[in-house]
Amino acid sequence: MIDYVNAFMASVEEKNPGETEFHQAVREVVESISLVLDMHPEYRSAKILERMVEPERTVVFRVPWMDDQGEIHINRGYRVEMNSALGPYKGGLRFHPSVNLGIFKFLAFEQIFQNSLTTLPMGGAKGGSDFDPKGKSGYEVMRFCQSFMNELFRHIGPDTDIPAGDIGVGGREIGYLFGQYRRLCNRFSGALTGKGLNWGGVNGRPQAAGYGCVYFAAEMLATRGQTLEGKTCLVSGSGNVSQYAIEKILQLGGKVLTVSDSNGVIFDEEGIDARKLAFIMELKNLRRGRIKAYTNKYKSAVYTPVDNSDSCNPLWDYKADCAFPCATQNEISAEDARRLLQNGVSLIAEGAHRPTCSEGVKTFLDADILYAPGKAAGAGGAAISGLEMAQNSMRMSWTKEEMDSRLSGIMKNIHSACLQYADRFGTPGNYVNGANIGGFLKVADAMIDQGLI
Ligand code: NAP
Repeated sequence: MIDYVNAFMASVEEKNPGETEFHQAVREVVESISLVLDMHPEYRSAKILERMVEPERTVVFRVPWMDDQGEIHINRGYRVEMNSALGPYKGGLRFHPSVNLGIFKFLAFEQIFQNSLTTLPMGGAKGGSDFDPKGKSGYEVMRFCQSFMNELFRHIGPDTDIPAGDIGVGGREIGYLFGQYRRLCNRFSGALTGKGLNWGGVNGRPQAAGYGCVYFAAEMLATRGQTLEGKTCLVSGSGNVSQYAIEKILQLGGKVLTVSDSNGVIFDEEGIDARKLAFIMELKNLRRGRIKAYTNKYKSAVYTPVDNSDSCNPLWDYKADCAFPCATQNEISAEDARRLLQNGVSLIAEGAHRPTCSEGVKTFLDADILYAPGKAAGAGGAAISGLEMAQNSMRMSWTKEEMDSRLSGIMKNIHSACLQYADRFGTPGNYVNGANIGGFLKVADAMIDQGLI
């Protein structure tokens, strides 16, 4: 099988040159699926994997906009519609200067499996722009979102493709995007998720990805007779996923020692409690400031600036029991992975998409710790987005308690599906294989049922 994986990857790399993140994501899935192919030659002869790595559609477009000084800027917009065998395309929009087509292909590919694992009828997609919302005025962000939607609206719709938020796209951006979509289409429909509660949004969407990740971690700990009570935790990032991961860790009795942003890391040995978390939320969501400001308010904290070109991030070099990477892809290098283990971390639940580099993943799997990949542990946001689609179609809404209980139920089911598939294909306790195989089989069967398209 190793020959099959290498030959498959050689062809993917040749056809998609320079798209490192996409290659990484595909390799991991193909390695897991190679365990299935001997038992199911029909997937190989139907060329399911070959079809899955080719987007059904990719849209790349110009996004012109004008800043407050009257200067014109041109950004690039993307939407990668990867697979719609299970349902309409679904996946977030990311606004960040680092993005490119390869990153969106990687994210859209991951989204196929994450959405499949939720068991909700959603295909996989991702999109966004190299626009950087940092330092822009509210009006500039609004003008950009409107210009972005002036093209995107042709490609999305409640039964076609339903984007959500991701890095740099939160409630404010979804509002502007939805407003422009509604204006262009003259229709109030659920073509985006992550909407405000009083205009089609649902209870619990902002909390979903962070809470879901911690629910998943709690399930993993339960397999070893443990809970989060009293456990020390490292959390990276300080955005949507991190904030609500911290909130849920605190509710379940854990102690959070770190947060970060792309400029630096906060280590607070007294712990980030609910009051300090409220400060972070206000700093990040309203004042849109840098995490360094935390040390002006809380003197117990130490701030370490980060150089993103370094091979290590100081955040992963503190002693702790658990780690929750919730910022971005490849934020845990091979060396970071080794340091995490040396520092006693025995559970890693990923809220972000592929935050650990491939060598780091191998290090965690070899160490036999509890390690959950983002496509499983980070599926809470996708799951609640799926429920937002359902509620929009029914023109009704469920209570906060109902949504939370559905979220925790879905995360429990994903957790047991991962363990079952890992076990069935001979790698017990390997959540990476479990998530990839569980996510793959449902999509592969749907693709076979629907013919060669
Ligand atoms: P967010 O609110 O924009 O927050 C992102 C955080 O990560 C910020 O603290 C940001 O710092 C940091 N960050 C971004 N790029 C970075 C980089 N290159 N290096 C270091 N730090 C960086 O985004 P989010 O919604 O929380 O998403 C975080 C991760 O979770 C992403 O991988 C996303 O794909 C994944 N995810 C999100 C959802 C969701 O529903 N939102 C669901 C599932 C998975 P700065 O402020 O300095 O940029």
